Amino acid sequence: PQDAAKLPLTVLIAAPRGFCAGVDRAIEIVERALQRYGAPVYVRHEIVHNKYVVENLRAKGAVFVEELDEVPADGHVVFSAHGVPKSVPAEAERRELTYLDATCPLVSKVHRQAERQIEKDRHIIFIGHEGHPEVIGTMGQVEPGQMTLVETVKDVAALPFAQDVPLAYLSQTTLSVDDTAEIIAALEARYPEIAGPKAEDICYATSNRQAAVKRIAPASDLVLVIGAPNSSNSLRLVEVAERCGTQAKLIQRGDEIDPAWLDGVGTIGVTAGASAPERLVREVIERLGEWRAVEERTLVSAEEKMVFKLPRELADSE
Ligand code: SF4
Repeated sequence: PQDAAKLPLTVLIAAPRGFCAGVDRAIEIVERALQRYGAPVYVRHEIVHNKYVVENLRAKGAVFVEELDEVPADGHVVFSAHGVPKSVPAEAERRELTYLDATCPLVSKVHRQAERQIEKDRHIIFIGHEGHPEVIGTMGQVEPGQMTLVETVKDVAALPFAQDVPLAYLSQTTLSVDDTAEIIAALEARYPEIAGPKAEDICYATSNRQAAVKRIAPASDLVLVIGAPNSSNSLRLVEVAERCGTQAKLIQRGDEIDPAWLDGVGTIGVTAGASAPERLVREVIERLGEWRAVEERTLVSAEEKMVFKLPRELADSE
């Protein structure tokens, strides 16, 4: 059909959205490792939680594995952006594997805080989602029994510690800003002496993307979040939109959009999680354009200039 025959659709695009500095760096590490060492380069866990990114790197010669025992003796291995327990580099060293650590520097910062709190003889309460690789990695910085995971305010109420036990809290980097503030308030109410990080552990990219969704969601009839079902920060973007009273859907690709979703929709919000490439945002908007006369508008709620340095071993290779 001609554009004139299509109903108009305003597409409100959130900014910032998509790739953060940690994801950019992690992908660059795999690409440079492939150039420097040649294929295959092994990657422990999805480098970032995005199928499109993983498939592109796989096509260039990356081999994704879940554990180091799948890496042959002379293999080169990259650890994903989410971070790994201390046992993983220890095992790589024991096996004399060449490894590169693509852990986001903001996750590494939390790892170092955990070590420091243990040196101060504090037990750590870690706010995070059970089973997420970042949580497994951060909990694996300390000995078993030195860190307790809480996911909700209810978990705080159930903590077994007396008030005189020295405690500190830390958090996963990709949580809901609002939920985490409530959990921290509950911790501080129950344990007034609890120590906390100087600046919060939720990263700039997570909080900026959530704030940007709060700008577009109230003006939208539906919000599409581009991201993977195992991407923590993308799931949080769906929740943030829903809490603004707007229906939201998590999609991985443009072809997942059901045209029936657009019935009665005049304005649609679009954002992308920190591991979703801009290419997929374009794909989604093009797909919407197949049914409707799209008018794009970007709502900028923050500027991001963060760039992280590459590991020394790769910094000079072009
Ligand atoms: Fe780093 Fe935040 Fe990006 Fe995770 S979301 S890789 S912590 S910048």
